[in-house]
Amino acid sequence: MANIFAFAETRLGELRRAGLEAVTAARRVADETGGQVHAMLAGGPGIGAIAAKLAAHGADVVLVLEGDAYVNYNPEVLAATIAARLGSGYRAAFFAASAQGHDLVARTAAKLKMPYASDVTDFAFTGDSVTVQHPGYTNKIVQTLVLRTPIAIISLRAGAVLPAENAKAGAVEAIAPAMDPATARVKVTSTEAGNRGKLDLGEAPVIIAGGRGLKEAANFALVEDCAAAFGNAAVGATRAVTDEGWRPHSDQIGQTGRLVSPDLYVACGISGAIQHLAGMRTSKCIVAINKDKEAPIFKVADYGIVGDVLEILPVLTAAVKTAKAGG
Ligand SMILES: Cc1cc2nc3c(=O)[nH]c(=O)nc-3n(C[C@H](O)[C@H](O)[C@H](O)COP(=O)(O)OP(=O)(O)OC[C@H]3O[C@@H](n4cnc5c(N)ncnc54)[C@H](O)[C@@H]3O)c2cc1C
Repeated sequence: MANIFAFAETRLGELRRAGLEAVTAARRVADETGGQVHAMLAGGPGIGAIAAKLAAHGADVVLVLEGDAYVNYNPEVLAATIAARLGSGYRAAFFAASAQGHDLVARTAAKLKMPYASDVTDFAFTGDSVTVQHPGYTNKIVQTLVLRTPIAIISLRAGAVLPAENAKAGAVEAIAPAMDPATARVKVTSTEAGNRGKLDLGEAPVIIAGGRGLKEAANFALVEDCAAAFGNAAVGATRAVTDEGWRPHSDQIGQTGRLVSPDLYVACGISGAIQHLAGMRTSKCIVAINKDKEAPIFKVADYGIVGDVLEILPVLTAAVKTAKAGG
C-alpha cells in the first residue's frame, strides 16, 4: 500500500503551523486510500524533539534529518533526500505553499521529472487521479486541475487544511541525506528571525487588520490591544497604511503583500479594495468594521459592524478579555 509523505516545515528550530497542516492533509488522504503517513523533519541538533507533535497530528512515522548541516534551510540536500525517498512507493507528497515550500516542491518535482500542483486550496483523490483546486489570477478564479501522476506532489496554501489532532504511536526514524551537505552548491549561512517575538501573519489563527479608517498611526494601538486580548492574533494592514508609514511593509496583506487564511480576520476601517481582498478573502470567518455600510468589504464579510472603528475596537477588545476570563 503506497504511503503519503508530508514535509513538516520548521524555522529556527520551531515547527511551523504549515508543517502541521501538511501532516493533517496527509493523514486525511491516508485514511481514505490506505498506507501510512511519513512526515519528514529537518533541522539542527534537537529537532527530533518535535517528532511527538507530528505523531499527535497523525504521522505514523517521523523521518528525521538532524545535524549541524541542517540548521539552515538546505535546498539541494533536502530536495535530493526527499526525491530519493519518494521514489520508493509514495502516493502523494504534501508541502507548504510557503517561500521555502515553493522552492522545495519545485526542486523535488524536477528531480523526479514529475509535475506538481502549487498553492492548492482543496484536493480529492479518486482512483488513480487527484483533483485539486488552485486559485489563479490573484484569486479572481479557481482552477480545477487533475493530476494523473504516480505521485501527487502538492503544495498547500496556508489555512487550506486546519491542523487536526489524530494521535498515532508515531515511530521515529533517523534518515541519511541523499547527498553530502558539504558538496551542495547552495549554502545558506544564516537564518534571521523576521518579526522578532511576533506571530507571523501566515501562522496566526486570528488577524486583526487595520486600514486608513483608523485615521492615524497612533490609533493602531487599539488594533494591537485587540490582538493582545486574543493572545493568538497578529496585526495586519492595508497598503494605504503601509504606504503612509503607519505600519511596516511586512504587515501588508493583499495582492502585493501577504496572502493569509486565518480562522478569523477582523477588518478595521478597511474599504475592501480588490487588491486587499486578494490577500485575505480565503479567511475562514471575516468580520468587518466600517462606518460606510456600502463599503465593498461587507460583500465578503461573514459579520459586519457599521460604525466608528475607534469606538468599536475598545468594546470588542473588552468583550474578548471578558470571554477569555470565562465571563
Ligand atoms: C497594483 C496595486 C496593488 C495593490 N496592492 C495592495 C495590497 O497588497 N494590499 C492592499 O491593502 N491594498 C493594495 N492596493 C491598494 C488598494 O487598491 C487600496 O487603495 C487599499 O487597499 C485601500 O486601503 P484602505 O482600505 O486602508 O483605505 P481606504 O480605501 O481609504 O478605505 C478606508 C475605509 O475606512 C472607512 N472608515 C473611515 N473612517 C472610519 C471610521 N472612523 N470607522 C470605521 N471605518 C472608517 C471608510 O469608509 C473606508 O471604507 C494596491 C493597489 C494597486 C494599484
